[in-house]
Amino acid sequence: MKIPLSSPDITEKEIESIVKVLRTPNLSLGPKLAEFETKFAEFIGTKYAVAVSSGTAGLHLCIKALKIEEGDGVITTPFSFITSSNCILYEGGNPAFVDINRKTLCIDVDKIEKFIAKSTNRTIKAILPVHIFGHPCEMDRIMEIADRYNLDVIEDGCEAIGAEYKNRSTGSWRKVGTFGKCGVFSFYPNKPMTTGEGGMIVTDDEKLAQICSSLRNQGREDSTHKRLGYNYRISDINSALGIVQLERLDEILEKREKVAELYNRKLKEVGEVELPYIGSNVKMGWFVYVVRLKANFSKEKRDEILDKLKDRGIECRSYFYPIHLQPFYMENFGYKRGDFPTAEYISDRTIALPFHNNLKEEEIDYIVDNLLHAIKI
Ligand SMILES: *Cc1c(COP(=O)(O)O)cnc(C)c1O
Repeated sequence: MKIPLSSPDITEKEIESIVKVLRTPNLSLGPKLAEFETKFAEFIGTKYAVAVSSGTAGLHLCIKALKIEEGDGVITTPFSFITSSNCILYEGGNPAFVDINRKTLCIDVDKIEKFIAKSTNRTIKAILPVHIFGHPCEMDRIMEIADRYNLDVIEDGCEAIGAEYKNRSTGSWRKVGTFGKCGVFSFYPNKPMTTGEGGMIVTDDEKLAQICSSLRNQGREDSTHKRLGYNYRISDINSALGIVQLERLDEILEKREKVAELYNRKLKEVGEVELPYIGSNVKMGWFVYVVRLKANFSKEKRDEILDKLKDRGIECRSYFYPIHLQPFYMENFGYKRGDFPTAEYISDRTIALPFHNNLKEEEIDYIVDNLLHAIKI
């Protein structure tokens, strides 16, 4: 059996919508782009949405539009895909890493408080929380800190489309991406919904949306180039694909939830692994299914297990290797092992198992059997 780690869910409907665009003269900056943005903003619950060529491009434009520049600090997590930190570096800012919560794997809000309290320099401008693996961060507390210290919040929702968070005092549910000044989503093929390549910025701030929209298209505004911009456009072909995926998103998220529940059921008796934690005030936007080995397992043993699963045709990964231990970060900023112990502890023990909309029960059984076998020997 060969089981991929992820797999996009594309139907005839998506294919037809792309072919339709190809029969028009509007392959970029056409009607599908505007339609995609309007419908996406409606889905998330923001006033504006600006579609771009990738999640990374979206994060970069948010950093730029919020005027984060040389020397400005942005509080973020070391346990993420590298781009949530790289986007700060693009503009000369400093990623200020704060360790993660051992259960949610999101940035630890208590540690944000401590970090700000002891930081004597006043250059911190923003917080960039990442809703990791589809689990929302503690947004009410993050927003409270941001308000208190006058910081902007950029939500990296690239792994959490459709995820919801319940405010503990008001009891109201909202989708991630609606809490901060702006939020960003990715439509890379391993994400729950895809446009091939693509991303989206969401915000309620009209000016911010206008600036991002201008920046993605060479800085154009009123037919002149008003600012230093980029080509971060997404084509109408990709947008058409996105519109159909968005129409199917509730169905897609439900399918993923079912697969996660099936895994949970089959793995809950396995003493050696911890299942994904789900907070009481969150609704997951399932991106990946990541289990963690218990404390008595070493990184070496985990790596052996990954190799054994791969030998059996099961594609799996150790999501995520901490950002501060990536060679570029160690060499340029002097980080070392021990700097963010929780992120490192978790990272040494994770196993991301195959996870996609149409994963079958017999495949899950095969994966679970092989995982057990690999753990025991
Ligand atoms: C996928 C991802 C992104 C953006 O990815 P792109 O490939 O640029 O679309 C950003 N942050 C996180 C946490 C991600 O997982």
